[in-house]
Amino acid sequence: METFKVEAVVLKTDDFGDSNRVVTLFTKEYGKIEANAYGCRRARSPLSGTLQMFNHISAQLTRGAQVDTIREADILHFYDELTKDLTRLAYASFFFEIVNRMTFPRQSELETFSLLTNSLPVLSKRNPKVAALIGACQFMETSGVQLNFDRCVHCGVEIDGDAAISLLDGGAVCMNCVDAVQNVRPYPEALRKTFDTMLGFNWRDDTKLTFNTRQLNAAENFFVDYVQSVLGSNLKSVQFIREFIN
Ligand SMILES: [Zn+2]
Repeated sequence: METFKVEAVVLKTDDFGDSNRVVTLFTKEYGKIEANAYGCRRARSPLSGTLQMFNHISAQLTRGAQVDTIREADILHFYDELTKDLTRLAYASFFFEIVNRMTFPRQSELETFSLLTNSLPVLSKRNPKVAALIGACQFMETSGVQLNFDRCVHCGVEIDGDAAISLLDGGAVCMNCVDAVQNVRPYPEALRKTFDTMLGFNWRDDTKLTFNTRQLNAAENFFVDYVQSVLGSNLKSVQFIREFIN
């Protein structure tokens, strides 16, 4: 049986049967993979506690014809604060759901792996809403589906001051072109500056991130609409945030 080792972040878990779990891992080596972990929900299982969402792990798997199986796993880092605080849990889930739903299996993406491992300590210690939005924003940028925030998608001019934005056309629309593009929504300068700051954020930097609540809520609402329009369906984590957090 072919075995292989990975370093991974647990993106998602789904229980099946009495004690099993399908685990979605984002690995450093192969990008996203799904693997079965048999018996891992039994208290005596050596995998018990290891295969939980947000854990950074190393694991040994065996290759299967249909699906791989996790044989051994060790925790490299775990983030207790994420599971104890509902707001942190909700926003970390938001970021992880976006990454999970917008990546394809077995496409190695080291940038995404680094983004996940770099964001976890920040999600667990600092403002989780800010951290999750930064993570999501930077992820969209690296995955190549990011909107064009800085130039008018219609005429190419650099955006200065207030503008509009078109999700359908994939980016900002300058005030001169606004009548020529359908379904635009406002894209105020403050929102653009918020996104600029988020895209430029360095995860290892302790600089205070100052966003006022209004800017932050506008960025969140905008981003959720954008991601959901790309996906063509709603994010479960957003439903949870709107019901229980905000
Ligand atoms: Zn224009």
